[in-house]
Amino acid sequence: AQRAALASWSGPAGTADGRPVKLLANVADAASAVAAGSEPVTGIGLFRTELCFLDRAEEPSVEEQAEIYARVLAPYAGEGRHVVVRTLDAGSDKPIAFATHPDEENPALGVRGLRLSFADPGLLHRQLDAVAIAAERTGTETWVMAPMVATVAEARDFGSAVRERGLKPGVMIEVPSAALLAHQVLEEVDFLSIGTNDLTQYTMAADRMATDLAHLTDPWQPAVLQLVAIAAEAGRRAGKPVGVCGEAAADPLLACVLVGLGITSLSMAAAAVRPVGARVSGVVAATCEEMAEAALAAVDPATARSAALAVAGA
Ligand code: PEP
Ligand code: MG
Repeated sequence: AQRAALASWSGPAGTADGRPVKLLANVADAASAVAAGSEPVTGIGLFRTELCFLDRAEEPSVEEQAEIYARVLAPYAGEGRHVVVRTLDAGSDKPIAFATHPDEENPALGVRGLRLSFADPGLLHRQLDAVAIAAERTGTETWVMAPMVATVAEARDFGSAVRERGLKPGVMIEVPSAALLAHQVLEEVDFLSIGTNDLTQYTMAADRMATDLAHLTDPWQPAVLQLVAIAAEAGRRAGKPVGVCGEAAADPLLACVLVGLGITSLSMAAAAVRPVGARVSGVVAATCEEMAEAALAAVDPATARSAALAVAGA
């Protein structure tokens, strides 16, 4: 019966007592964007643009990029929906021939994500031009966020480049420094999206690809939850949305904890949307808050999880 309830759940997205929580999809291309449209989502919370270019030796022209982005944006035109486009997150686990810096000693800590634009701002500016063209052509509400932001100055520069093009700027919270300064970062941009995969990697100093470090790269790590709490609280005070788009959002129990911490949207692989939506809709906001408190008080992931589960009562 539980499985049937899960399969049939189709919204509205939010807690049992009506606190809204936006459910969004993570996508890589037009095909996954169209497929996600059959799930109960209000849009795309993470379009990983670099995945469109894994096989490209050369940077695609602005026009070609605009066409690619428009195909992802088009299914989400219309009132109340939006797409969050992430600018190139090239480097480390996502090498892109025309962007990644070769021969780095330590690529995860190197010139990746927004840092690529330090030496070559043109790459970012051409991509933003292409996104603006795609947004204009499709009429889809388009937000743009930068990966791997570490400083307030980076958020400021990115924010003004995005605003100049009439789009809504945000940044990903993936580096502990950005989480700790979330309040100041939010003075520069309109939203935050927490990438728990990298935030966990950098908080725990543990490679996200290393299977033998999985006990460290667990998003239930209380230190990671503390950083999420700081970012969510900054968003609440600023009246700006703070979402989660890392794997953590796809864990139904952890999703309740994130809601309890004050997260306003959850973006995940399309297949996770119904289980997460169903679980969140089964608890009231106050219970989510108690679950969050219990998880934050734990000293390790297993205890955080069982404490949240005990509060949820199932
Ligand atoms: C993350 O780091 O959590 C994230 C969503 O980005 P990616 O997994 O693409 O690095
Ligand atoms: Mg990331």
